[in-house]
Amino acid sequence: MIYGKSTGVDIAVIGGGLVGAAIAYGLLEKGQSVAMFDEGEAAFRASRGNFGLVCAGAKGDKLEDYAPWALQGVEVWADFAERLTAATAIDLELEQNGGMVFCPEEQDLAARTATMERLRRRSGLDFDVLRPAEIARYMPGVSDNFAGGIFCSIDGAANPLKLLRALHAAVSRTPGASRQDARVSRIEPGSGGGYRIVTARGTTDCQKVVLAAGLGNLAMAECLGVKLPIVPMRGQILVTERHDPVLTVPSEQVRQNRNGTFLLGGSWEDVGYDTSTTFEVTRDIAALAVRYFPFLKSVRLVRSWSALRILAPDNAPIYDEIAPGAYLVTCHSGVSLAALHSGKVAGWIAEGILPEEAAPFHLGRFAAATPEPEVAHG
Ligand SMILES: Cc1cc2nc3c(=O)[nH]c(=O)nc-3n(C[C@H](O)[C@H](O)[C@H](O)COP(=O)(O)OP(=O)(O)OC[C@H]3O[C@@H](n4cnc5c(N)ncnc54)[C@H](O)[C@@H]3O)c2cc1C
Repeated sequence: MIYGKSTGVDIAVIGGGLVGAAIAYGLLEKGQSVAMFDEGEAAFRASRGNFGLVCAGAKGDKLEDYAPWALQGVEVWADFAERLTAATAIDLELEQNGGMVFCPEEQDLAARTATMERLRRRSGLDFDVLRPAEIARYMPGVSDNFAGGIFCSIDGAANPLKLLRALHAAVSRTPGASRQDARVSRIEPGSGGGYRIVTARGTTDCQKVVLAAGLGNLAMAECLGVKLPIVPMRGQILVTERHDPVLTVPSEQVRQNRNGTFLLGGSWEDVGYDTSTTFEVTRDIAALAVRYFPFLKSVRLVRSWSALRILAPDNAPIYDEIAPGAYLVTCHSGVSLAALHSGKVAGWIAEGILPEEAAPFHLGRFAAATPEPEVAHG
């Protein structure tokens, strides 16, 4: 499809993953004229390779302001899902029956409990520390071969592929809003103010631009003279054959999809842009899953994949206006935060006022020191 040599919109969103598509959908709901540019299959796409947890429980260990933001994101998810499903007739398979984090050893459980106590003081997030026998009430078939777990009743999971499909369907209802196979090569200053978005198919002038291209934001921000501290972090995930329904509560290590398959995962590997899968990690993920749920030993694996997380040094999102009218949005946890991105973050871009609770996520927080990212959860 040819978009014409030069066209114009109010707001260009670069990136059609979970982050860009949620923002584009939110901006369209607010009556803005939007063009969402998406590179397509060639790009690294966290949105097609994630675990689908909608969770607040694990957020904020390195930046406590993230805890109330993540909690708010999970609290508004059901309303968001209802609206998006009403608009697209796509069921996002959201279930918020609580979420579990397993702690293999006593010291893991003690450390995790201490972190959760600290975050509860900051955000009010409620949680329970459970031993295996108590976990069995929520998760039938669980073993007693581990120390315990943390249960957050507000957490849950959705189908991330259906979420992405629904967001694209919602954006595509507005003619010209979704531009696929449209890799942005440059962002230039616009001739009459604003910006000019350059693709191989032509240029688009806009008043505002949203950088929501995942790891592609590194190159997009450089067009504006800004260097970002985000890095890729590989996660491998395994999928089993279908099984009778057993688990309605997900964990970071094992969850059952509505179609009966189990997702097992996910590793945290600092291997740059390598998206291969490895035997060693597959074996370790499977062994841990069987430690928690021995019945999985007789359930066959059918597939595995890897995808790259988009990680800031403190694992929290970055929201910043990095040049006048140029908004940077990047995060790990694009599923959990999707409702906030289509709501408050889109509102910030449309109206220029960042909600107070999102103010701590500015880029300047990394200016003083840029610690190395560490393995984390979520
Ligand atoms: C293994 C794994 C497990 C995860 N589990 C969870 C989870 O349980 N819950 C949760 O909330 N989050 C989870 N995440 C994180 C979540 O997947 C990401 O936060 C989210 O997908 C990020 O979306 P994004 O749109 O920023 O990036 P991406 O999905 O990478 O999308 C970026 C998009 O930008 C486009 N693009 C890039 N460059 C350009 C360009 N120059 N021009 C045009 N388009 C461009 C690409 O085509 C792509 O579509 C997980 C991630 C991984 C890898």
